[in-house]
Amino acid sequence: MFKNILLLTFSTILINSFSIAQNFETQRFIAVTFDDLPMNTKYLGDGNQWIEQTQKLLLTIKKYKIPAIGFVNEYKLYVNEVLDSSRLKALQLWIDADLELGNHTFSHPDYHNTENEEFFADIIKGEKITKKLLSQKNKMLEYFRHPFLHTGNSLEKKKALEDFLKEQNYTVAPVTIDNGEWIYARAYENAYNNKDSELMKQIGSEYVSYMIDKTIYFENQSVKLFGREIKQILLVHANMINADYFDELAKELLKRNYSFISLNEALTDSAYETEDTFIGRGGISWLHRWSYTRKVDKSFFAGEPEVPKSILEIAEIESE
Ligand SMILES: [Zn+2]
Repeated sequence: MFKNILLLTFSTILINSFSIAQNFETQRFIAVTFDDLPMNTKYLGDGNQWIEQTQKLLLTIKKYKIPAIGFVNEYKLYVNEVLDSSRLKALQLWIDADLELGNHTFSHPDYHNTENEEFFADIIKGEKITKKLLSQKNKMLEYFRHPFLHTGNSLEKKKALEDFLKEQNYTVAPVTIDNGEWIYARAYENAYNNKDSELMKQIGSEYVSYMIDKTIYFENQSVKLFGREIKQILLVHANMINADYFDELAKELLKRNYSFISLNEALTDSAYETEDTFIGRGGISWLHRWSYTRKVDKSFFAGEPEVPKSILEIAEIESE
């Protein structure tokens, strides 16, 4: 009996030291990008609440020295077509924290259902305030993130947008760790709206472990495609669940030996020069776009973690 316990303890130590050694070996890099600034929320309408939530989120970003970038939808700055000073202040906080901002269009249209010219005009309309804010720090508006990650559902449409963005000197911000964070965010807000703090806690902790599972999945997809782990780009949103739980998620990423890098630094990875001819409807990870372009077998995509039914139900969303 005693011998067995000893053996068990010994093998546990062995397994533990093996995984620690493995963690030390792989130095990982990740850029964190927040979409839908100043805030993506269903229930918080008051600009002061936006300021409060932003302050909470920025506290985490500063704590872990994350050189994050936020992608702005300027339509969110207006209430009944009047610029809202509190919402503007929430956005100003990102600039005050020396963070980067990018363009996510003015009104978050879906490129796949929008005429090209109308979509391009919405991009230009979305520059106005963000440009001004960046100029306070002598920065230019450089980056563009596609709403819904929709890059064009035909080769012509895809090329037209690529050309337009190039003409306007934009750099596209790809996403490699795409995920169902927005579903957890919706569920979390619903629980908040029902004043169910126990459920909020449960969703929050499930969210963190789901995001880590998703990260591990894309680490493996990267190895399968490139034979190495590329510098990853994570997509999340400026929302309540991240104001409360990004701290825990950041902590878990550090445990996996991630260093937080800027989007600009992530893009120095040669992987981002890979050809992408994906014209499917889905807003999917660039790792998968490159995989489709390379015509890999369907089995290549197996094992992607899914948002559990219980969360979809609380979020009142039919499917991912
Ligand atoms: Zn968005």
